[in-house]
Amino acid sequence: MSKTDLAVADGLVVGIYYTLTIDNEVVDSNRKGGKPLVYLAGTNSIVAGLEKALVGKVKNDHVEVSISPEEGYGEHNEAAVETVPRSAFPENAPIEVGSRFIASDEAGNQIPTLVTAVDGDDITVDHNHPLAGQTLNFDITIAGVREATEEEQQHGHVHGPGGHEH
Ligand code: ZN
Repeated sequence: MSKTDLAVADGLVVGIYYTLTIDNEVVDSNRKGGKPLVYLAGTNSIVAGLEKALVGKVKNDHVEVSISPEEGYGEHNEAAVETVPRSAFPENAPIEVGSRFIASDEAGNQIPTLVTAVDGDDITVDHNHPLAGQTLNFDITIAGVREATEEEQQHGHVHGPGGHEH
């Protein structure tokens, strides 16, 4: 088997072209002149349902898969909605319904923050992933599969085009 025939499996670097459709509306795609999205298989860098659906596929395979919130970005979690004082935001931040911010927690994780209500100094924010609660319809073409370098395996992510540049 030549290297171009590698099938997607944990520890390999996979490139994909994708179109994401939700409720019959295309919400994201990298097909138009875009470079493939690359990920290191088995590292949870793409949603679980998609990772599973692509295992065993080879270059140029075409995959259509519908992914439940459970295997996508999770159900919408009411516990991730909270009211915080205006002072919790950076000074001069534009705070209005629909404003999006990226907050970070003590561990340095990035937390999406969507302002859903403004009542004086009481700001209601939703930390759910913007696609939480949604069924994700992916249309995928495998652009390529290759071995990961030793360094990529150690770092747990892809280097080079489409990956980390460091
Ligand atoms: Zn690295």
